[in-house]
Amino acid sequence: MIDQYNRNIDYLRISVTDRCNLRCKYCMPEGISTLPMKDILTYEEIRSVVEQAAELGFRHIRLTGGEPTVRIGLPILLREIKSVQGIEKVSMTTNGILLEKMLPGLIESGLDAVNISLDTLDREKYRELTGTDGLETVLSSIRAACSEGLKVKLNSVSLFSDEESIRTMVSLAEELPVDVRFIEMMPVGYGKKYPGISHEDLLQMLRRMYPGMEKDTRQHGFGPAVYYMIPGCRGSVGLISAIHGKFCSTCNRVRLTSQGYLKTCLCYSDGADLREVLRGDMPEEEKKTALWERMREAVFRKPDAHCFEKPEAMTEYAGMNAIGG
Ligand code: SAM
Ligand code: SF4
Repeated sequence: MIDQYNRNIDYLRISVTDRCNLRCKYCMPEGISTLPMKDILTYEEIRSVVEQAAELGFRHIRLTGGEPTVRIGLPILLREIKSVQGIEKVSMTTNGILLEKMLPGLIESGLDAVNISLDTLDREKYRELTGTDGLETVLSSIRAACSEGLKVKLNSVSLFSDEESIRTMVSLAEELPVDVRFIEMMPVGYGKKYPGISHEDLLQMLRRMYPGMEKDTRQHGFGPAVYYMIPGCRGSVGLISAIHGKFCSTCNRVRLTSQGYLKTCLCYSDGADLREVLRGDMPEEEKKTALWERMREAVFRKPDAHCFEKPEAMTEYAGMNAIGG
């Protein structure tokens, strides 16, 4: 649907859980508490939201979290969402720890594409950052997803500013047909404590390290990444630069938190409480209409731009795991 700034909003990211099997320091450090299960939307409730989203013109759903693969029965939800009329594509963002084992079920349920998060290829740094010695497991999942023919993109938060870290991440796009996307750290949740490397600096480094690098103007999806081709690489290198490359004028997405709150921008608490409608005491048909109306109003009001450059103006204090990164 078209919002008040004439943007076509057709992409819904759904956080299916706020729990995770890793403890990335910038997202869900040790000791963080999680929500009681009764506060989390059931699969039936998520399906109801997706049905109304499809009515409003949403076409692409991404399952995320927390870590989506830790929620029991995820392939069942995936199949349900794929069967909603109007939904064209369902993808997932995962840390890759459980992915390899779950691939057959997810593919059978219709998974179209997967983004796998991996911030470093240094085993010790990975363990230190996530609290788990899982680098080899993630690499194995990445290779398995590629062999299955899934469209795979890698997401790497730009934490490390040394050439070796950047070169090893880029080397994955040499070895495999994957796009490697660097993500500029956003001051959301614990991310405020780990600003990482600015993407102005990262781009300069990449240009210096790969003088043959050229802008890649091919369509890679509908997201905000700016892509570059590096000679010898099978995949492209993408930069998602929320801070040094504000892309709000073309933003096409909203988020459903694991508690059923429809968030229209990462920066602000604005949105709509859909769980209240879903669990309200009214006949099913009225509920559908109420959901549709609440979603339509909230999406229409989507703010024009984030304010990460002025963190004091932010009104969202939840962590990325609860919001659905
Ligand atoms: N657990 C899954 C994963 O790690 O891919 C999905 C959820 S996670 C919140 C989604 C993505 O958000 C990950 O790539 C993670 O690195 C990224 N992320 C988390 N906090 C962030 C922040 N403050 N700024 C930018 N990206 C962040
Ligand atoms: Fe878990 Fe993903 Fe957050 Fe890491 S970034 S703690 S894997 S939800």
